[in-house]
Amino acid sequence: MDNWETLKNQCLNCTDCPLCQTRTNVVFGAGNPEAEVLFIGEGPGEQEDLTGEAFVGRAGKLLDDMLAIIDLDRTNIFIANIVKCRPPKNRDPLNTEQEACIKWLRKQTALIRPKIIVCLGRVAAMRIISPDFKISVDHGSWYESNGVKMMALYHPAALLRDPRRRPETFLDLKELERMIKKICIHTYS
Ligand code: SF4
Repeated sequence: MDNWETLKNQCLNCTDCPLCQTRTNVVFGAGNPEAEVLFIGEGPGEQEDLTGEAFVGRAGKLLDDMLAIIDLDRTNIFIANIVKCRPPKNRDPLNTEQEACIKWLRKQTALIRPKIIVCLGRVAAMRIISPDFKISVDHGSWYESNGVKMMALYHPAALLRDPRRRPETFLDLKELERMIKKICIHTYS
C-alpha cells in the first residue's frame, strides 16, 4: 500500500512532541496492515525503543502467547501504540504527548479500517474507548463506535506483574475469538 509506506516514513521522522528527544527509534507498529483486528497498546518500552519493533521482550512474548490461545498471530492482526516513542523510564505518556501522537494512530486506523479494536491496558482504553474506563471492571466488555467493535484486555505487562488476572484474560480472549468468528471474514480463513 503506497499510502501506508508514505505514512510510515512520515511517522518515522516525526518530531512533534518532546519524546523525539529521548527516543532511539520510532515504533510504528507490527503485523498486517490489512488486518480486521487492530490491537492498541500504550507506548514503546525499552526493548521496543532499542529495536524499533512493537511488543518485543517479555510482554511481547506473552502477547504472542495470548494471541496463540485464539489462533491469532502477527500475520492476521496489526499492533500499534497510542504514542510511537518511548516515554522515559516507561512512565505513562502525558496527555500532551498522546494528543500530539494520536494523529498517527488515527491515520493508521483509517487505512486499516479494522472491524474490531482491542485496547491493551488502561491508558489505551481510556484514550480509545472512554476517559472513564476502569480496566479492572470494564475489561472484556464490548463497546461500539462508528460501527467498530471495541474491547480492552489487561496489558501483557500487567499480567506479568499480576498473574492472578490471567484466568479473566483467558475468558476475554475467548469472547474476542467469538466476536471475530461472528463479524470478521478473513481473519480465520
Ligand atoms: S511520540 Fe508521536 S508525536 Fe511524539 S515525536 Fe514520537 S511520533 Fe511524534
